Amino acid sequence: MAETDKKRVIAILGSTGSIGVQTLQVVEEHPECFEVYALTANERVEELIAQARKFQPEAVVIANEAKYEQLKEALQDLPIKVYGGYEAICQIVQSQPIDIVVTALVGFAGLRPTIEAIKAGKAIALANKETMVVAGELVNKLAHQYKTPILPVDSEHSAIFQCLAGEADNHIEKLILTASGGPFRTFSKKELETVTKEQALKHPNWSMGAKITIDSASMMNKGLEVIEAKWLFGVCPDDIEVVVHPQSIIHSMVQFADGAVKAQLGTPDMRLPIMYALSYPVRLPSTFGRLDFTTMKELTFEAPDLERFPNLQLAYHALKMGGNMPCVLNAANEVCVSAFLHDKIKFTEMSRLIERALQSVDYQLNPTLDQLIATDCITRRTVEGWI
Ligand code: NAD
Ligand code: MG
Repeated sequence: MAETDKKRVIAILGSTGSIGVQTLQVVEEHPECFEVYALTANERVEELIAQARKFQPEAVVIANEAKYEQLKEALQDLPIKVYGGYEAICQIVQSQPIDIVVTALVGFAGLRPTIEAIKAGKAIALANKETMVVAGELVNKLAHQYKTPILPVDSEHSAIFQCLAGEADNHIEKLILTASGGPFRTFSKKELETVTKEQALKHPNWSMGAKITIDSASMMNKGLEVIEAKWLFGVCPDDIEVVVHPQSIIHSMVQFADGAVKAQLGTPDMRLPIMYALSYPVRLPSTFGRLDFTTMKELTFEAPDLERFPNLQLAYHALKMGGNMPCVLNAANEVCVSAFLHDKIKFTEMSRLIERALQSVDYQLNPTLDQLIATDCITRRTVEGWI
């Protein structure tokens, strides 16, 4: 950003999570560029209190109202407005001074605050991919109507976004999303039957929240990202390819009409795509790590195995069916991931239940927001019933 630019005022939804904390590190890296207006969290009140004391935002919100009193009391010596409840998150994003809302909260809960932020004309730094999975078409329409940009934070989508800089209307022949393959990349079908949550929570390259870590192990993360890519970049599902690249150095690629392929590379550090989304179109300097090509042994690629990891195929299927099916996929997955994390189902049962949900929940072609909320609710109830 030019020195004369005013500071960008940001709200971070889910500031206590993995992306939220790294967003605050980006702010610390460039305090002259960014100002924190609001921080929100779900449960982790101690972390939120510490963040509020350090960054002195105008407002903080804790979604879990049972923690509100504790938050309010801990910050009473500071001029910080304190709110409780999920509705307060949907409201705080509309505050006049905010320029950018970072959606770093996890799951379907990201949808409504994102929509409210768009309607209030805020730019969205989108980490919460579930929002685009569930309601990509609707969100795009609103973003167009309210003339607000949606800037990707997800590393693959940031990579594609960076590859597309300067390409104006050049036709995209294909998007190539890279996937690390997760901790079970080399596991046999039989071995996958007995993997534990402790194994699944150990991602080889990235340190992330629990839900996305399980999604990465099951390849659902890549499935969600295929759907996210469709809505962010307007390509057909068949023009989105997934390739497994275990080193996570190439974050994704774009192939153009002439056959040229552009790739974006970097260390596996989410602060880079977060900072690009916040400072776009400017690249700010950073002290973050650098790649060293002289010590990099190899960059390898392989096709994803859809038989061992059916989730990727289920996501393509839901995307091609369209309507409320991606919403069903997402809700069923959220319930399954939570059940797996609570030792209620086996790792491999997740795909089976998600497939069953896609077959069981009624199809709706052009769902409204209310219909999507109903689909989410019905799917959760249905899958929870099976578990
Ligand atoms: P996380 O679990 O570490 O953090 C989630 C945050 O959201 C926490 O601050 C939590 O308090 C808040 N939250 C959770 N449920 C909420 C609810 N119902 N209402 C309000 N707030 C709620 O998750 P994360 O890994 O930071 O991921 C956040 C989002 O970013 C996800 O959509 C994920 O897919 C996406 N993402 C994460 C990474 C990563 O490296 N962590 C990379 C790409 C995309
Ligand atoms: Mg990603």
